Amino acid sequence: MKYAVYTLGCKVNQYETQALESMLRDRGFERTEGGADVVIVNTCAVTAESGRKSRQAIRRLQGQNPGALTVVCGCFAQLEPDQTAALGADILFGSGDKHALAEAIVRALPERNVDDPFQRRVFEPLPAGAVDGRTRAMLKIQDGCDNFCAYCVIPYTRGRVRSMPLDICAEQAAALAGEDFAEIVLTGIEIASYGKDLPGRPGLADAVEAVAKAAPGARIRLGSLEPTVVTEAFCARLAALGNVCPHFHLSLQSGCDDTLARMRRKYDTAAFYDVCQRLRRHFPGCALTADLICGFPGESEADFAQTLAFLEKCGFLFVHAFPYSVRPGTRAADMPGQLSRAEKEDRVRRAGTVIARMQRAYLDSCVGRVLPVLFENAHGGHSDNYCQVRIRGTAERGSVKNVRITAVEGDVLLGESTELADGFAF
Ligand code: SF4
Repeated sequence: MKYAVYTLGCKVNQYETQALESMLRDRGFERTEGGADVVIVNTCAVTAESGRKSRQAIRRLQGQNPGALTVVCGCFAQLEPDQTAALGADILFGSGDKHALAEAIVRALPERNVDDPFQRRVFEPLPAGAVDGRTRAMLKIQDGCDNFCAYCVIPYTRGRVRSMPLDICAEQAAALAGEDFAEIVLTGIEIASYGKDLPGRPGLADAVEAVAKAAPGARIRLGSLEPTVVTEAFCARLAALGNVCPHFHLSLQSGCDDTLARMRRKYDTAAFYDVCQRLRRHFPGCALTADLICGFPGESEADFAQTLAFLEKCGFLFVHAFPYSVRPGTRAADMPGQLSRAEKEDRVRRAGTVIARMQRAYLDSCVGRVLPVLFENAHGGHSDNYCQVRIRGTAERGSVKNVRITAVEGDVLLGESTELADGFAF
């Protein structure tokens, strides 16, 4: 049996798709780009745009593979099962239970399996593995979110916080290390809440330590972080490990305190700035990246000006700026002061100018440094601080080499390979 697959949305979705693919391969399925017996779309609902793209992807794959069994799963299917079914889904799962989904595909029976996400109490460990060939592996350690930020639909699709127990984190990390992955990315829906559901309430630092110890030869990269977890003790424990990548993606969303409060975020700009400085003290030269929502309901021009100034003050390597997207059922959907699409897009554009300037400043600061680069192809890959690096010569795909950075070209660092990296001495 042949399957075609398309994934939208976050790293967790990518991770879950690769896990599903691995389960299907174990059952004799083969991936194809055309002539599939089964088409699978792992959908996203984080913005209205991702919902639209999910619907479009379902239609496209159905058109390209006439007669194929249509399998739809993920957050959009969880949130809008009726709309998804109307698109012709033969097998419809929400965002949970990928093992059962694999079984359902094998049985190839038309089914609908959208559970109540708030009834999910136990983490579903999935096979860990690569998302971009054989170089970098993702390890999902957490699912769900209890934060209910005013704009976000994810807690309604993913349910409460569930965490992978520490011994399974270590077991999966050791298995990845045994497969020679040079980098393990720890991912989840809201990894800062890791462990709050587990006996003894271990924290994210415990999970990182368990993984780092089980995979001492790999470098560990953290997925998106809620800033409140980044305490002095957290930074000290991570820095002591020696193989945690000096790149941190922080969920900022706004640089204006009033807007943050209305978003029901749990920090203000002063606390966020302290987090940036703390990370820089413990990981000198580290790269910080962030997410930003432009045009949240009631965000005035003055609020947005504060946000732009705050971005510059923090000095990010990159910021993913999105226009605010109304998600029915969330608090923000009914807030007064909704901005027009044009206003929101204009703010994204203006944020883009500041982001490009900050990115250039950070990349320029890398010239002269020697960075360990994981080669995703023969000519380059990503450095430990998550810059794209290209060298003049070639290197073995999947290897890590120290590269002396000599110049910046666009958003890429150019450099010369010096020697094979000796471990991961950042
Ligand atoms: S922390 Fe907020 S933005 Fe992130 S998934 Fe939870 S509710 Fe959504």
